[in-house]
Amino acid sequence: MLDIIKLLPDSVANQIAAGEVIQRPASAVKELMENALDAGATQIDLVVKDAGKALIMVVDNGCGMSETDARLCFERHATSKISKAEDLFSIKTMGFRGEALASIAAIAQVELKTHRPEDEVGTRIVIEGSVVKEQTLIPMAAGTTFTVKNLFFNVPARRNFLKSAQAEMRHIVEEFTRVTLMNPEIGFSLVSDGKELYHLYPGSLKQRVMGLFGSNYESKLLPVNQETERVRISGFIVKAEYAKKTRGEQYFFVNKRFIKHAYLHHAIENAFMEMIPKDSFPGYFLNIEVDPADIDINIHPTKTEVNFLDVKLVYAILHAAVRKAIGQHNLSPMIDFDETADLNSDFSAASMASRPVVFPDIPIDPNYNPFGQKTVGQNDSRTWNDFPQHREKPSGDWRLLYGERSDLINKDECESTEPVAEQPANSQYLQVNQSFILTTVKSGLLLIDQHLAHTRILFEKYLKEMENHSGASQQELFPQAFTLNANDASLLKELLPELENLGFVLDQANPTTFMINGTPSDSAGHDAVELLERILEHYKLNRTDLQLDRKLNLAKTLSAQLAIKPVTKLSEMEMQHLVDQLFACNVAEIAPNGKKIYVIVTIEELLTKFN
Ligand code: ADP
Ligand code: MG
Repeated sequence: MLDIIKLLPDSVANQIAAGEVIQRPASAVKELMENALDAGATQIDLVVKDAGKALIMVVDNGCGMSETDARLCFERHATSKISKAEDLFSIKTMGFRGEALASIAAIAQVELKTHRPEDEVGTRIVIEGSVVKEQTLIPMAAGTTFTVKNLFFNVPARRNFLKSAQAEMRHIVEEFTRVTLMNPEIGFSLVSDGKELYHLYPGSLKQRVMGLFGSNYESKLLPVNQETERVRISGFIVKAEYAKKTRGEQYFFVNKRFIKHAYLHHAIENAFMEMIPKDSFPGYFLNIEVDPADIDINIHPTKTEVNFLDVKLVYAILHAAVRKAIGQHNLSPMIDFDETADLNSDFSAASMASRPVVFPDIPIDPNYNPFGQKTVGQNDSRTWNDFPQHREKPSGDWRLLYGERSDLINKDECESTEPVAEQPANSQYLQVNQSFILTTVKSGLLLIDQHLAHTRILFEKYLKEMENHSGASQQELFPQAFTLNANDASLLKELLPELENLGFVLDQANPTTFMINGTPSDSAGHDAVELLERILEHYKLNRTDLQLDRKLNLAKTLSAQLAIKPVTKLSEMEMQHLVDQLFACNVAEIAPNGKKIYVIVTIEELLTKFN
C-alpha cells in the first residue's frame, strides 16, 4: 500500500496556523503594535480603513530590521526574542512565538518597509499569501512600517465571518487601548477612515487614562501603589462613586500584558464591596509586576490568561492595595481639587455644582447613641431632649449638593437656606410606614431607608473604632457566661482584639466559656449572649461567602445587628440626627450590603406622574 501521509506545503500550514493567531483585524493590530513596542519605538501610529478589513498600517520609529531579518521575519517560528527553552521562563517582550508575521503574511497582502539606523538604506518587501512578490532597497527614516491590505483575501469563509465594521472597530479600539494604556511614555495615534480617533502624547499613566477615557478622569482616579518583595502593584482605581453599570473600564495587566483574571477581579470587587451598588462595577487600570519566572504565559497567543505560581498571595496584596487606596481617599475627602487646577479657578456655584460631591468628615461622638433601644427597667423617661443638643453639623447645607438643577443654586440662595439643624422641628421630616424618612431637596423628594442609613453610619463608626481602639463600652451589671463549642470558642478568641476595640469586655473563664463583662454602648437593649451568637454566625457566613477581612466583616456584622430596625417610630429629632449623620459618612449612598440607602424622586419625575 502507498504511504498516505504528506507534509503540508508551508503556505497551507501557515494559513492553518493563522486561523488561530489572527482571528480578526484587531488581532493583527495587536500583533503589529506589540512588535513595534518590542522594537523599542517611542512613537507608534496606527491607520486603519474599513475597520481594518481594507487596511491596517503600523508605523514605528523602533530599531528596524536588517535586509536578511526583513526576509526572515515572515518565516514561522522566526523570532529574535527567545532562542532556547529556558528563555520561555524569563520573557520580557510582548512577542516570543515568532508566529504573528508568518500568519499575517499567509492571509493578506503585506508590505514591509524597514530601516535600521546603522544601515545606509532600508528594505522593502511585498509578500502575499506567504509568497514574496518583491524585494527592493529603499531610502527611508529609521524604523518599520507594516502595511496589511485585504486581510483574509484568500480565506473568503473567514472574511465573511467577520462582524459589522462597527463591531470590528470596537475590537480594534479595545486592543489599541490595552496596548497604549501600559505604555504611557510612548506616543500613539489612531486614524480610522481618515479621521483621527486618538492622539496620545507621551506622559504619565494618569494622563494616558485621561487621553483614552476623557479628561474628566482627572478627578475620578485614586492611585494604587503597593510594593512587596515578590509583587508590585501600581496604577489607578476609579472612585466608588463613579462605578459604572457596565464592565467597561476594567484593565488588569501582568508585566504590562493585558490579562483577564476572574479571581483577581474578585479581590477588587471585594475591596469595593460595601461602597458600590450591586449592579455596578468598579473601574481599574492596574499593572501587577512579578518576576517572569513566577508566571506562566506560554499558552495560546490570543488568550488573555496567565497562571500565577502563588495566586493567593497576589490576591491578598491586590486586595490590601485597593483597600488602602480607598481608605486614604476616604480619610481626606475635604476638598478634592484637581492637581492641576488653576489657583484662580472659578468657584461660582455653577462650577462648584459640577464638581464631584464630597462630604465633610465629621467626627462622631462614639459615646453618643441616640438609637439604643431601651429595655423595661432602664431609664425609660430619658428622651431625645436629654441628649446634648450641640453637635457639629455639615459645613453648608448638604441638600445643596443634591440640587440637580445647578441654575437654582446661586449665592443668595445658599445664604438664605437655613442649615438643617436650625429648621423648625415640626415640618422637616416625615416618617413613612415607620421605615422611611421623607424630606424635600432642591431637586425633588428624598426618601431614606432608616435601617440602611443607620447601618452605614454604624459601619463607618465601627471601622474607625477598630482602627483607633476607641469603642465605648457599657458595663454589664451582671456578667453573663457565654458557652460555645470548641470551634466557635477558638474563633471568638481570635476575634477578641477587634471585639474589645468595639467595646466588648470578655474574659475567658475556661476553654469554651467567656464571661461577658461589657458590651458596646450601642447595644443597650440587646441580650449580650444572643448578640455575640448572632455576630459569630454572621461572621462565619460572611467569611465564606464574601471572603471579607476581619475588621470589615465585624463592622458589617455588628452594624447590621445594631442598626434601628424597619418599623421603628422615630421622632423628628431622631430623623434629623440620622440624616445629618448619614450625609457626614464617607459613602452616604450605599449600605454595607450594597443596597441603595436613599432615592431622589425629581420634580421632573413627579411632573410626569400627573400627565
Ligand atoms: P515574535 O514577535 O513572536 O518574535 P513576530 O512574527 O511577531 O514574532 O515577529 C518576528 C520577528 O520580526 C521579531 O522577533 C522581530 O525580530 C522582527 N520584527 C517584527 N516586527 C518588527 C518591528 N516593528 N521592528 C523591528 N523588528 C520587528
Ligand atoms: Mg510579535
